[in-house]
Amino acid sequence: MHELSVALSMIEGIADSAARDGFERVLAVHVRVGALSGIAPEALRFSWKLASAGTLAEDSTLNIEDVPLVVFCERCGSERKPRPASGLICPECATACPIIVRGRDLQLVAVEVPE
Ligand SMILES: [Zn+2]
Repeated sequence: MHELSVALSMIEGIADSAARDGFERVLAVHVRVGALSGIAPEALRFSWKLASAGTLAEDSTLNIEDVPLVVFCERCGSERKPRPASGLICPECATACPIIVRGRDLQLVAVEVPE
């Protein structure tokens, strides 16, 4: 499962910052998941539980914010949100828009630790 390896590498990264910044527990983790990232939020939530067991992030909450796909349409000269499942196509002028502005990545936004 792709999401499990994503969750494991997130925890690895958090453990690294914990060693650097001197925290030992994680209460919550906030991530942004792009529509094109290939990550299913529910699967990621489930994987988070598995991956965090026995680590400093055990029992932490995973907050997922969905980031919709946004492309730049060169013909319109502006950012557009393609319709779901339509691919990288401008909804206004139907031009193919290969420039993805947002929605491709998974981004770790914040880690909440105890005071
Ligand atoms: Zn357009």
